Amino acid sequence: MADHTAETGSSSAMLDVIVVGAGFAGVYAVYKFRRLGFSVRAFEAGGDVGGTWYWNRYPGCRCDIESIYYSYQFDDDLQQEWEWTERYASQPEILSYIRHVADRFDLRRDIRFNTRVTAARFEAASGQTPSHWTVATNGGQTHKARFCVMASGVLSAPNLPDIPGRDTFAGKSHHTGRWPRDGVDFTGLKVAVVGTGSSGIQSIPLIAEQAERVTVFQRTPNYAVPASNRPLEPHELNDIKSRYGEIRAASKKGFTALPFKPAGPSALGVSGGEREQVYEHWWRNNGLAFQGAFADLLFNEDANLTAANFVRNKIRELVNNEEVAERLTPRFPLGCRRMCVDTRYYATYNRTNVTLVDVSRRPIDGIVPEGVCVGGAVHAADAIVFATGYDAITGALLAMNLRGRGGLSLRDKWAEGPRAYLGLAARGFPNLFMVNGPGSPSVLINMVTGVEQHIDWIADCLAHLRNRGLDAVEAIAQHEDAWAAHNNEVAERSIRGNCASWYNGANIPGKPGGFMPYVGGFPAYSEKCEQVAQNGYEGFALS
Ligand code: NAP
Repeated sequence: MADHTAETGSSSAMLDVIVVGAGFAGVYAVYKFRRLGFSVRAFEAGGDVGGTWYWNRYPGCRCDIESIYYSYQFDDDLQQEWEWTERYASQPEILSYIRHVADRFDLRRDIRFNTRVTAARFEAASGQTPSHWTVATNGGQTHKARFCVMASGVLSAPNLPDIPGRDTFAGKSHHTGRWPRDGVDFTGLKVAVVGTGSSGIQSIPLIAEQAERVTVFQRTPNYAVPASNRPLEPHELNDIKSRYGEIRAASKKGFTALPFKPAGPSALGVSGGEREQVYEHWWRNNGLAFQGAFADLLFNEDANLTAANFVRNKIRELVNNEEVAERLTPRFPLGCRRMCVDTRYYATYNRTNVTLVDVSRRPIDGIVPEGVCVGGAVHAADAIVFATGYDAITGALLAMNLRGRGGLSLRDKWAEGPRAYLGLAARGFPNLFMVNGPGSPSVLINMVTGVEQHIDWIADCLAHLRNRGLDAVEAIAQHEDAWAAHNNEVAERSIRGNCASWYNGANIPGKPGGFMPYVGGFPAYSEKCEQVAQNGYEGFALS
């Protein structure tokens, strides 16, 4: 399907809502706000809907949450008619799904594609003009809306490391998050892959099957558990559809908005043999949920060590060369950094055309026209794949020049680290909402469920203001501070708070620290949001 062209021309009309981004969040936002009778327009940098699933077309790209959960639940007919073909959907299938949603609800007429928002400024009410946001786009146009909803994605601002000589490389280089639409043919090429997070771990096996030679540059090994993907049989899908309501309700009670229940409260409360059986079962069947096999794995270091050692032993079994297996073995607690899923990843290192170069102690010196240099030696390459991740959670927000009340810039406000009340709104930025902002569960839960919860909450809030003839909503400082303190406190209780990772911005040089996603789980978070709304939007100033 062809991409859509950009629309030119500023608009003087005052919209109710501008949505930035048309991934899962933006698409649902357009549907929801329109349904509630708000005038809405979304701006999307890509050529079509899809967000992360539009840009990430690298080989092997696939969701690591099961398709029956990683899908919308707002419309039962949609849920009943869509046929997922695999347990974990591939990128093309997810992109087809989100395109289908846009078609089915005729959403594209309110989305402007190939249009990147570059700035947004809050203007206080004056005379007959209500307070509003003026939004500028890359084509030089401006648009106005009373409210702004930033659905700009949490893993959408690619991180391309500043390696000396990067631009001198003679071959082609690609970031996994900006993969060419028509794919890349690596046949007969020597390929260097930098990065071994989820994107590297998914793409390396497929690149290795095609390329003449693959050299992987690994700074930190990660834990990968079997993806256990397989086709979804029609009878399984029918059974799920007959119980979808129940399944969705059970998922919302799950810590990660998924219906997994741990095998027990503590990995230390059962015998070694029993524990191994549990791990073996979760390893074979449950993908990423492995890290929740016992309820204390992410909260108790000794419990965590039992699971970490289980996976470390598996790596030793899967990789023939002992030295390579050791290099691939993570030393930090399991789940402390985002876990990955393995489809032939570890086994790929048994291939004769794959080499693992450890750059943990000796970093990449530079890139030269012929390849990648480490310790003075050049590893020849015809192509480089940067699987080097993202400026996560805040990157896309800070890439726009966002200016709140009195011209306050979001970058200045967050100079010491990001804070937002409930991860939804920042003081000084009235009438601006973030979807999956810092301080919300975002990347730690099933994101589609999280997105629906956020958009529903924002839509209810806008309807509340409209019903009462109110103009503005803004987080109150004391509540924003209290939420940030609570966020830190729950992060410290979890082993996740202890590692350098993209969760706390450690992957981006100079990025202020602090654990960004809310670790308290989806049920506690959504309950808090509901309470806030029921108490007349407690913690927000309405005017
Ligand atoms: P990532 O997890 O941040 O991994 C980036 C990798 O690049 C890391 O191994 C990092 O090493 C390495 N790196 C960065 N700069 C480097 C440098 N200068 N020299 C050497 N290595 C360097 O990024 P990602 O793999 O794109 O994944 C990001 C997130 O997206 C995932 O955690 C996940 O949440 C999501 N995702 C999900 C799926 C899925 O659903 N299956 C797939 C892909 C991505 P260090 O670790 O040492 O910094």
